[in-house]
Amino acid sequence: MAWDFSTEPEFQEKLDWVSDFCKNEIEPLDLVFPGAARSREPLQRALVDPLKQQVKDQGLWALFLDEDLGGPGFGQLKLALINEILGRYGSAPSIFGTAAPDTGNMELVAAYGTDEQKDMWLYPLMNQEMRSAYSMTEPQGGSDPDLFVTTAVRDGDEWVINGEKWFTSAGRAADILFVMCKNGIFIVPRETPGVEFMPNSPLAHSHIKYDNVRVPLNHLLGPENAGKVLAQRRLGGGRIHHAMRSIAQCHRAFDMMCERALSREAHGKIIGDHQMVQEAIADSYAQIKMLRLLILETAWVIDNSSTQEARTQIAATKYTAAKVLREVTYRAIHIMGSLGVTNLTPLQAQWANAPTMAVMDGVDEVHKVTVARNVLKQYRPHDGLWPSEYIPAKREKATEKYEALFAKDPEYRDLSEKLIRRAAFIGG
Ligand SMILES: Cc1cc2nc3c(=O)[nH]c(=O)nc-3n(C[C@H](O)[C@H](O)[C@H](O)COP(=O)(O)OP(=O)(O)OC[C@H]3O[C@@H](n4cnc5c(N)ncnc54)[C@H](O)[C@@H]3O)c2cc1C
Repeated sequence: MAWDFSTEPEFQEKLDWVSDFCKNEIEPLDLVFPGAARSREPLQRALVDPLKQQVKDQGLWALFLDEDLGGPGFGQLKLALINEILGRYGSAPSIFGTAAPDTGNMELVAAYGTDEQKDMWLYPLMNQEMRSAYSMTEPQGGSDPDLFVTTAVRDGDEWVINGEKWFTSAGRAADILFVMCKNGIFIVPRETPGVEFMPNSPLAHSHIKYDNVRVPLNHLLGPENAGKVLAQRRLGGGRIHHAMRSIAQCHRAFDMMCERALSREAHGKIIGDHQMVQEAIADSYAQIKMLRLLILETAWVIDNSSTQEARTQIAATKYTAAKVLREVTYRAIHIMGSLGVTNLTPLQAQWANAPTMAVMDGVDEVHKVTVARNVLKQYRPHDGLWPSEYIPAKREKATEKYEALFAKDPEYRDLSEKLIRRAAFIGG
Protein backbone atom coordinates (compact mmCIF):
# COMPACT_ATOMS: atom_id res chain seq x y z
CA MET A 1 0.00 0.00 0.00
CA ALA A 2 1.86 3.09 -1.20
CA TRP A 3 -0.56 5.87 -0.23
CA ASP A 4 1.13 7.89 2.46
CA PHE A 5 0.27 11.38 3.71
CA SER A 6 3.07 11.62 6.28
CA THR A 7 6.21 13.78 6.15
CA GLU A 8 9.64 12.28 6.81
CA PRO A 9 10.95 13.43 10.23
CA GLU A 10 14.15 14.90 8.69
CA PHE A 11 12.12 16.98 6.26
CA GLN A 12 9.67 17.96 8.98
CA GLU A 13 12.67 19.45 10.83
CA LYS A 14 13.37 21.61 7.78
CA LEU A 15 9.71 22.67 7.61
CA ASP A 16 9.83 23.57 11.30
CA TRP A 17 12.96 25.63 10.70
CA VAL A 18 11.30 27.43 7.77
CA SER A 19 8.21 28.12 9.85
CA ASP A 20 10.18 29.52 12.83
CA PHE A 21 12.46 31.56 10.57
CA CYS A 22 9.51 33.11 8.74
CA LYS A 23 7.71 33.91 11.98
CA ASN A 24 10.72 35.26 13.86
CA GLU A 25 12.75 36.94 11.11
CA ILE A 26 10.72 37.57 7.98
CA GLU A 27 7.45 38.75 9.47
CA PRO A 28 9.12 41.40 11.68
CA LEU A 29 11.17 42.57 8.67
CA ASP A 30 8.00 42.83 6.54
CA LEU A 31 6.21 44.82 9.23
CA VAL A 32 9.00 47.27 10.03
CA PHE A 33 10.80 47.49 6.65
CA PRO A 34 8.12 46.64 4.08
CA GLY A 35 9.61 46.07 0.60
CA ALA A 36 13.22 45.87 1.84
CA ALA A 37 13.61 42.26 0.67
CA ARG A 38 13.60 43.29 -3.00
CA SER A 39 15.58 46.51 -2.61
CA ARG A 40 19.07 46.98 -4.02
CA GLU A 41 19.77 49.91 -1.74
CA PRO A 42 22.80 49.15 0.54
CA LEU A 43 21.13 50.12 3.83
CA GLN A 44 18.24 47.73 3.16
CA ARG A 45 20.48 45.00 1.76
CA ALA A 46 22.43 45.08 5.02
CA LEU A 47 19.24 43.94 6.74
CA VAL A 48 18.22 41.35 4.20
CA ASP A 49 21.47 39.73 3.03
CA PRO A 50 22.23 38.07 6.41
CA LEU A 51 18.75 36.48 6.32
CA LYS A 52 19.42 35.13 2.83
CA GLN A 53 22.71 33.76 4.09
CA GLN A 54 20.90 31.87 6.86
CA VAL A 55 18.63 30.32 4.22
CA LYS A 56 21.68 29.33 2.15
CA ASP A 57 23.37 27.85 5.22
CA GLN A 58 20.32 25.63 5.68
CA GLY A 59 20.58 24.43 2.06
CA LEU A 60 17.22 25.99 1.29
CA TRP A 61 18.25 28.55 -1.34
CA ALA A 62 16.65 28.36 -4.83
CA LEU A 63 14.39 25.56 -3.67
CA PHE A 64 12.88 24.88 -7.07
CA LEU A 65 16.15 23.96 -8.80
CA ASP A 66 17.85 20.57 -9.07
CA GLU A 67 21.04 19.90 -7.20
CA ASP A 68 23.29 20.12 -10.26
CA LEU A 69 22.03 23.66 -10.83
CA GLY A 70 22.66 24.81 -7.30
CA GLY A 71 19.29 24.13 -5.68
CA PRO A 72 18.49 21.43 -3.11
CA GLY A 73 16.65 19.30 -5.72
CA PHE A 74 13.67 18.72 -3.47
CA GLY A 75 11.17 18.25 -6.30
CA GLN A 76 7.69 19.70 -6.43
CA LEU A 77 6.05 17.85 -3.55
CA LYS A 78 8.54 19.05 -0.96
CA LEU A 79 8.53 22.47 -2.58
CA ALA A 80 4.75 22.53 -2.13
CA LEU A 81 5.12 21.83 1.59
CA ILE A 82 7.64 24.66 1.95
CA ASN A 83 5.67 27.06 -0.25
CA GLU A 84 2.57 26.61 1.87
CA ILE A 85 4.58 28.21 4.67
CA LEU A 86 6.34 30.88 2.58
CA GLY A 87 3.10 32.05 0.95
CA ARG A 88 1.99 33.60 4.21
CA TYR A 89 4.88 36.09 4.29
CA GLY A 90 5.24 38.70 1.53
CA SER A 91 9.06 38.73 1.46
CA ALA A 92 9.67 35.05 2.05
CA PRO A 93 9.94 34.05 -1.64
CA SER A 94 12.67 36.71 -2.18
CA ILE A 95 14.56 35.72 0.93
CA PHE A 96 14.47 32.06 -0.13
CA GLY A 97 15.54 32.88 -3.72
CA THR A 98 12.21 31.67 -5.10
CA ALA A 99 10.49 34.90 -6.12
CA ALA A 100 8.50 35.21 -9.34
CA PRO A 101 9.10 36.12 -12.09
CA ASP A 102 12.76 35.12 -11.68
CA THR A 103 11.98 31.50 -10.74
CA GLY A 104 10.13 30.67 -13.96
CA ASN A 105 12.78 32.42 -16.03
CA MET A 106 15.56 30.55 -14.24
CA GLU A 107 13.77 27.27 -14.87
CA LEU A 108 13.71 28.11 -18.57
CA VAL A 109 17.43 28.88 -18.77
CA ALA A 110 18.18 25.80 -16.65
CA ALA A 111 16.14 23.58 -18.97
CA TYR A 112 16.94 25.08 -22.37
CA GLY A 113 20.02 27.29 -21.97
CA THR A 114 23.46 26.47 -23.35
CA ASP A 115 26.39 26.46 -20.91
CA GLU A 116 27.25 29.95 -22.13
CA GLN A 117 23.67 31.15 -21.50
CA LYS A 118 23.67 29.61 -18.02
CA ASP A 119 26.87 31.49 -17.22
CA MET A 120 25.43 34.74 -18.60
CA TRP A 121 22.00 34.55 -16.93
CA LEU A 122 21.19 31.52 -14.79
CA TYR A 123 23.86 31.83 -12.12
CA PRO A 124 23.59 35.64 -11.80
CA LEU A 125 19.80 35.24 -11.44
CA MET A 126 20.23 32.53 -8.82
CA ASN A 127 22.58 34.76 -6.84
CA GLN A 128 20.16 37.68 -7.23
CA GLU A 129 22.93 39.69 -8.87
CA MET A 130 20.49 40.09 -11.74
CA ARG A 131 16.69 40.48 -12.03
CA SER A 132 14.48 39.38 -14.86
CA ALA A 133 10.97 39.82 -16.26
CA TYR A 134 8.80 37.82 -18.61
CA SER A 135 7.34 39.69 -21.57
CA MET A 136 4.63 37.63 -23.27
CA THR A 137 1.17 39.26 -23.13
CA GLU A 138 0.44 41.80 -25.86
CA PRO A 139 -1.94 44.77 -25.66
CA GLN A 140 -4.36 43.29 -28.22
CA GLY A 141 -4.76 39.98 -26.42
CA GLY A 142 -3.31 37.79 -23.70
CA SER A 143 -5.32 34.60 -23.55
CA ASP A 144 -4.69 33.55 -27.14
CA PRO A 145 -1.01 33.32 -28.14
CA ASP A 146 -2.06 33.11 -31.80
CA LEU A 147 -2.88 36.82 -31.54
CA PHE A 148 0.70 37.74 -30.64
CA VAL A 149 2.62 39.54 -33.38
CA THR A 150 6.02 40.36 -31.86
CA THR A 151 8.66 38.84 -34.12
CA ALA A 152 12.43 38.52 -34.27
CA VAL A 153 14.04 38.67 -37.71
CA ARG A 154 17.59 37.51 -38.27
CA ASP A 155 19.91 40.12 -39.68
CA GLY A 156 23.53 38.92 -40.01
CA ASP A 157 24.76 37.96 -36.57
CA GLU A 158 21.87 39.65 -34.75
CA TRP A 159 18.15 39.22 -34.14
CA VAL A 160 16.01 42.31 -34.65
CA ILE A 161 12.87 42.34 -32.49
CA ASN A 162 9.76 44.40 -33.15
CA GLY A 163 6.53 44.36 -31.16
CA GLU A 164 4.73 45.54 -28.09
CA LYS A 165 4.19 43.82 -24.76
CA TRP A 166 1.73 44.55 -21.98
CA PHE A 167 1.88 43.67 -18.27
CA THR A 168 5.52 42.66 -18.02
CA SER A 169 5.70 42.31 -14.22
CA ALA A 170 8.73 43.93 -12.60
CA GLY A 171 9.87 45.02 -16.07
CA ARG A 172 11.40 48.27 -14.92
CA ALA A 173 13.43 46.58 -12.19
CA ALA A 174 14.66 43.83 -14.51
CA ASP A 175 18.15 43.61 -15.98
CA ILE A 176 16.98 41.16 -18.63
CA LEU A 177 13.62 40.63 -20.34
CA PHE A 178 12.48 37.23 -21.60
CA VAL A 179 10.58 38.28 -24.72
CA MET A 180 8.23 35.81 -26.33
CA CYS A 181 8.24 36.31 -30.08
CA LYS A 182 6.28 34.41 -32.71
CA ASN A 183 9.49 32.55 -33.50
CA GLY A 184 10.93 31.85 -30.05
CA ILE A 185 11.90 33.32 -26.70
CA PHE A 186 14.70 35.90 -26.76
CA ILE A 187 16.61 37.40 -23.86
CA VAL A 188 16.88 41.16 -24.14
CA PRO A 189 18.95 43.27 -21.72
CA ARG A 190 16.64 46.05 -20.53
CA GLU A 191 19.13 48.78 -21.50
CA THR A 192 19.22 47.68 -25.16
CA PRO A 193 18.39 50.58 -27.52
CA GLY A 194 14.79 50.33 -28.74
CA VAL A 195 13.38 48.96 -25.45
CA GLU A 196 10.86 51.67 -24.67
CA PHE A 197 8.77 51.80 -21.49
CA MET A 198 5.41 53.32 -22.34
CA PRO A 199 3.87 56.08 -20.23
CA ASN A 200 0.74 55.11 -18.28
CA SER A 201 1.99 51.57 -17.62
CA PRO A 202 0.17 49.93 -14.70
CA LEU A 203 2.19 50.14 -11.51
CA ALA A 204 4.74 47.28 -11.41
CA HIS A 205 3.54 45.79 -14.72
CA SER A 206 5.20 47.48 -17.68
CA HIS A 207 3.86 48.23 -21.10
CA ILE A 208 6.97 47.93 -23.31
CA LYS A 209 7.58 48.67 -26.95
CA TYR A 210 10.37 46.73 -28.67
CA ASP A 211 11.37 48.94 -31.58
CA ASN A 212 14.10 47.43 -33.78
CA VAL A 213 15.77 45.92 -30.72
CA ARG A 214 18.99 44.15 -31.70
CA VAL A 215 20.43 41.24 -29.71
CA PRO A 216 23.23 38.79 -30.62
CA LEU A 217 22.30 35.38 -32.04
CA ASN A 218 23.08 33.63 -28.76
CA HIS A 219 20.19 35.47 -27.10
CA LEU A 220 17.66 33.03 -28.55
CA LEU A 221 16.73 30.56 -25.80
CA GLY A 222 16.15 27.00 -26.97
CA PRO A 223 15.35 26.21 -30.59
CA GLU A 224 13.84 28.74 -32.99
CA ASN A 225 10.01 28.49 -33.23
CA ALA A 226 9.78 26.67 -29.87
CA GLY A 227 8.34 29.65 -28.01
CA LYS A 228 5.02 27.97 -27.17
CA VAL A 229 6.70 24.84 -25.81
CA LEU A 230 9.01 26.92 -23.63
CA ALA A 231 6.12 29.11 -22.49
CA GLN A 232 4.09 26.06 -21.45
CA ARG A 233 6.98 24.77 -19.42
CA ARG A 234 7.56 28.13 -17.77
CA LEU A 235 3.95 28.89 -17.00
CA GLY A 236 3.17 25.35 -15.82
CA GLY A 237 5.77 25.64 -13.08
CA GLY A 238 4.68 29.17 -12.20
CA ARG A 239 1.02 28.20 -11.88
CA ILE A 240 1.58 25.36 -9.46
CA HIS A 241 3.95 27.50 -7.36
CA HIS A 242 1.32 30.25 -7.11
CA ALA A 243 -1.28 27.66 -6.15
CA MET A 244 1.03 26.26 -3.44
CA ARG A 245 1.49 29.70 -1.94
CA SER A 246 -2.22 30.43 -2.09
CA ILE A 247 -2.86 27.62 0.41
CA ALA A 248 -0.85 29.61 2.94
CA GLN A 249 -3.10 32.59 2.37
CA CYS A 250 -6.22 30.44 2.70
CA HIS A 251 -4.87 29.09 5.99
CA ARG A 252 -4.21 32.58 7.28
CA ALA A 253 -7.74 33.74 6.42
CA PHE A 254 -9.14 30.56 7.99
CA ASP A 255 -7.12 31.05 11.19
CA MET A 256 -8.40 34.61 11.43
CA MET A 257 -11.98 33.50 10.84
CA CYS A 258 -11.80 30.84 13.57
CA GLU A 259 -10.07 33.10 16.09
CA ARG A 260 -12.72 35.74 15.55
CA ALA A 261 -15.54 33.20 15.76
CA LEU A 262 -14.40 32.35 19.28
CA SER A 263 -13.63 35.92 20.35
CA ARG A 264 -16.69 37.89 19.36
CA GLU A 265 -20.18 37.81 20.79
CA ALA A 266 -23.47 38.80 19.16
CA HIS A 267 -27.11 38.14 20.01
CA GLY A 268 -26.49 36.25 23.20
CA LYS A 269 -23.65 33.93 22.19
CA ILE A 270 -20.19 33.85 20.68
CA ILE A 271 -20.53 34.16 16.91
CA GLY A 272 -18.94 30.70 16.44
CA ASP A 273 -22.14 29.29 17.98
CA HIS A 274 -24.29 30.77 15.20
CA GLN A 275 -24.97 28.15 12.57
CA MET A 276 -24.25 30.37 9.57
CA VAL A 277 -20.80 31.19 10.96
CA GLN A 278 -20.30 27.46 11.53
CA GLU A 279 -21.27 26.83 7.91
CA ALA A 280 -18.64 29.34 6.73
CA ILE A 281 -16.03 27.58 8.85
CA ALA A 282 -17.07 24.09 7.76
CA ASP A 283 -17.15 24.98 4.04
CA SER A 284 -13.79 26.75 4.25
CA TYR A 285 -12.22 23.83 6.12
CA ALA A 286 -13.33 21.32 3.48
CA GLN A 287 -12.39 23.55 0.53
CA ILE A 288 -8.88 24.17 1.86
CA LYS A 289 -8.36 20.44 2.48
CA MET A 290 -9.53 19.61 -1.05
CA LEU A 291 -7.33 22.29 -2.61
CA ARG A 292 -4.30 21.17 -0.63
CA LEU A 293 -4.73 17.53 -1.63
CA LEU A 294 -5.21 18.51 -5.28
CA ILE A 295 -2.01 20.56 -5.21
CA LEU A 296 0.03 17.93 -3.42
CA GLU A 297 -1.15 15.21 -5.78
CA THR A 298 -0.33 17.42 -8.77
CA ALA A 299 3.15 18.07 -7.36
CA TRP A 300 3.57 14.33 -6.88
CA VAL A 301 2.52 13.67 -10.50
CA ILE A 302 5.06 16.24 -11.74
CA ASP A 303 7.79 14.58 -9.66
CA ASN A 304 6.88 11.20 -11.07
CA SER A 305 6.43 12.29 -14.70
CA SER A 306 6.81 15.86 -15.97
CA THR A 307 5.15 19.26 -16.02
CA GLN A 308 3.84 18.42 -19.49
CA GLU A 309 2.30 15.14 -18.31
CA ALA A 310 0.67 16.95 -15.40
CA ARG A 311 -0.90 19.69 -17.57
CA THR A 312 -4.48 18.79 -16.80
CA GLN A 313 -3.95 18.70 -13.05
CA ILE A 314 -1.90 21.92 -13.11
CA ALA A 315 -4.70 23.69 -14.97
CA ALA A 316 -7.22 22.39 -12.41
CA THR A 317 -5.09 23.61 -9.47
CA LYS A 318 -4.84 27.04 -11.08
CA TYR A 319 -8.55 27.87 -11.16
CA THR A 320 -9.37 25.91 -8.01
CA ALA A 321 -6.76 27.83 -6.02
CA ALA A 322 -8.18 31.12 -7.32
CA LYS A 323 -11.73 30.10 -6.36
CA VAL A 324 -10.90 28.77 -2.90
CA LEU A 325 -8.73 31.79 -2.09
CA ARG A 326 -11.51 34.12 -3.20
CA GLU A 327 -14.26 32.35 -1.27
CA VAL A 328 -12.32 31.71 1.94
CA THR A 329 -10.94 35.26 2.02
CA TYR A 330 -14.42 36.68 1.49
CA ARG A 331 -15.84 34.61 4.36
CA ALA A 332 -12.99 35.65 6.66
CA ILE A 333 -13.55 39.32 5.86
CA HIS A 334 -17.27 38.93 6.45
CA ILE A 335 -16.81 37.24 9.81
CA MET A 336 -14.34 39.94 10.88
CA GLY A 337 -17.13 42.48 10.29
CA SER A 338 -16.08 46.12 9.87
CA LEU A 339 -12.48 45.37 10.86
CA GLY A 340 -12.29 42.92 7.95
CA VAL A 341 -12.80 45.65 5.36
CA THR A 342 -10.04 47.90 6.71
CA ASN A 343 -6.34 47.80 5.98
CA LEU A 344 -5.63 46.93 9.61
CA THR A 345 -5.44 43.19 8.87
CA PRO A 346 -3.85 41.36 5.90
CA LEU A 347 -7.29 40.42 4.58
CA GLN A 348 -8.02 43.53 2.58
CA ALA A 349 -4.84 43.17 0.49
CA GLN A 350 -5.51 39.47 0.13
CA TRP A 351 -9.02 40.19 -1.11
CA ALA A 352 -7.75 42.77 -3.60
CA ASN A 353 -5.38 40.12 -4.91
CA ALA A 354 -8.02 37.39 -5.20
CA PRO A 355 -9.42 38.32 -8.64
CA THR A 356 -5.84 38.69 -9.87
CA MET A 357 -5.30 34.99 -9.28
CA ALA A 358 -8.07 34.21 -11.76
CA VAL A 359 -6.41 36.29 -14.51
CA MET A 360 -2.64 35.94 -14.08
CA ASP A 361 -0.89 32.93 -15.62
CA GLY A 362 -3.82 32.60 -18.02
CA VAL A 363 -7.47 33.30 -17.28
CA ASP A 364 -9.47 30.60 -15.49
CA GLU A 365 -11.71 30.01 -18.51
CA VAL A 366 -8.76 28.92 -20.66
CA HIS A 367 -7.62 26.46 -17.98
CA LYS A 368 -11.11 25.07 -17.64
CA VAL A 369 -11.20 24.52 -21.39
CA THR A 370 -7.86 22.67 -21.15
CA VAL A 371 -9.15 20.44 -18.37
CA ALA A 372 -12.43 19.69 -20.11
CA ARG A 373 -10.75 18.97 -23.46
CA ASN A 374 -8.12 16.68 -21.94
CA VAL A 375 -10.68 14.88 -19.81
CA LEU A 376 -13.01 14.38 -22.77
CA LYS A 377 -10.16 12.74 -24.73
CA GLN A 378 -10.47 9.83 -22.29
CA TYR A 379 -14.14 9.26 -23.18
CA ARG A 380 -16.08 8.16 -26.25
CA PRO A 381 -19.72 8.66 -27.20
CA HIS A 382 -22.12 5.85 -26.28
CA ASP A 383 -23.36 3.47 -28.91
CA GLY A 384 -27.02 3.77 -29.80
CA LEU A 385 -29.63 5.89 -28.12
CA TRP A 386 -29.03 5.24 -24.44
CA PRO A 387 -26.10 6.20 -22.20
CA SER A 388 -23.90 3.35 -20.96
CA GLU A 389 -25.34 3.75 -17.43
CA TYR A 390 -28.94 3.27 -18.73
CA ILE A 391 -30.24 0.82 -16.15
CA PRO A 392 -32.73 -1.23 -18.22
CA ALA A 393 -30.05 -2.07 -20.81
CA LYS A 394 -27.47 -2.88 -18.15
CA ARG A 395 -29.97 -5.01 -16.30
CA GLU A 396 -30.87 -6.91 -19.45
CA LYS A 397 -27.19 -7.69 -19.98
CA ALA A 398 -26.64 -8.61 -16.35
CA THR A 399 -29.64 -10.93 -16.47
CA GLU A 400 -27.88 -13.00 -19.15
CA LYS A 401 -25.27 -13.88 -16.53
CA TYR A 402 -27.97 -15.48 -14.38
CA GLU A 403 -29.96 -17.27 -17.14
CA ALA A 404 -28.46 -20.64 -16.22
CA LEU A 405 -29.44 -20.12 -12.56
CA PHE A 406 -32.96 -19.02 -13.50
CA ALA A 407 -33.35 -22.05 -15.76
CA LYS A 408 -32.20 -24.36 -12.97
CA ASP A 409 -34.19 -22.72 -10.20
CA PRO A 410 -37.10 -20.45 -11.35
CA GLU A 411 -37.56 -19.25 -7.76
CA TYR A 412 -34.52 -17.02 -8.35
CA ARG A 413 -36.20 -15.36 -11.33
CA ASP A 414 -39.18 -14.50 -9.12
CA LEU A 415 -36.86 -13.24 -6.41
CA SER A 416 -34.96 -11.07 -8.89
CA GLU A 417 -38.18 -9.55 -10.26
CA LYS A 418 -39.41 -8.85 -6.73
CA LEU A 419 -36.16 -7.18 -5.71
CA ILE A 420 -36.04 -5.11 -8.89
CA ARG A 421 -39.60 -3.88 -8.25
CA ARG A 422 -38.64 -2.93 -4.70
CA ALA A 423 -35.44 -1.19 -5.83
CA ALA A 424 -37.43 0.80 -8.41
CA PHE A 425 -39.81 1.85 -5.66
CA ILE A 426 -37.00 3.18 -3.44
CA GLY A 427 -35.21 4.78 -6.41
CA GLY A 428 -32.60 2.11 -7.22
C1 LIG B 1 -0.80 40.23 -11.60
C2 LIG B 1 -0.54 39.87 -13.03
C3 LIG B 1 0.75 39.66 -13.43
C4 LIG B 1 1.02 39.36 -14.77
N1 LIG B 1 2.33 39.23 -15.16
C5 LIG B 1 2.63 39.03 -16.46
C6 LIG B 1 3.98 38.96 -16.88
O1 LIG B 1 4.92 39.08 -16.09
N2 LIG B 1 4.23 38.79 -18.19
C7 LIG B 1 3.23 38.66 -19.11
O2 LIG B 1 3.53 38.49 -20.28
N3 LIG B 1 1.93 38.74 -18.75
C8 LIG B 1 1.61 38.92 -17.44
N4 LIG B 1 0.28 39.03 -17.04
C9 LIG B 1 -0.74 39.03 -18.04
C10 LIG B 1 -1.60 37.78 -18.03
O3 LIG B 1 -0.90 36.65 -18.39
C11 LIG B 1 -2.81 38.08 -18.91
O4 LIG B 1 -3.56 39.08 -18.23
C12 LIG B 1 -3.69 36.88 -19.15
O5 LIG B 1 -3.04 35.94 -19.99
C13 LIG B 1 -5.02 37.29 -19.79
O6 LIG B 1 -4.82 38.09 -20.90
P1 LIG B 1 -5.60 39.50 -21.04
O7 LIG B 1 -5.33 40.28 -19.82
O8 LIG B 1 -5.23 40.08 -22.33
O9 LIG B 1 -7.13 39.09 -21.01
P2 LIG B 1 -8.01 38.65 -22.25
O10 LIG B 1 -7.27 37.63 -23.06
O11 LIG B 1 -8.47 39.88 -22.95
O12 LIG B 1 -9.22 37.95 -21.51
C14 LIG B 1 -10.22 38.74 -20.90
C15 LIG B 1 -11.40 37.87 -20.54
O13 LIG B 1 -11.92 37.24 -21.72
C16 LIG B 1 -12.52 35.99 -21.37
N5 LIG B 1 -11.88 34.90 -22.12
C17 LIG B 1 -10.65 34.87 -22.71
N6 LIG B 1 -10.44 33.69 -23.30
C18 LIG B 1 -11.53 32.92 -23.08
C19 LIG B 1 -11.94 31.61 -23.42
N7 LIG B 1 -11.13 30.80 -24.13
N8 LIG B 1 -13.15 31.17 -23.00
C20 LIG B 1 -13.97 31.98 -22.28
N9 LIG B 1 -13.65 33.24 -21.93
C21 LIG B 1 -12.45 33.71 -22.33
C22 LIG B 1 -12.29 35.81 -19.88
O14 LIG B 1 -13.40 36.27 -19.15
C23 LIG B 1 -11.07 36.69 -19.62
O15 LIG B 1 -10.92 37.05 -18.27
C24 LIG B 1 -0.03 39.26 -15.71
C25 LIG B 1 -1.35 39.43 -15.28
C26 LIG B 1 -1.61 39.74 -13.96
C27 LIG B 1 -3.04 39.96 -13.53
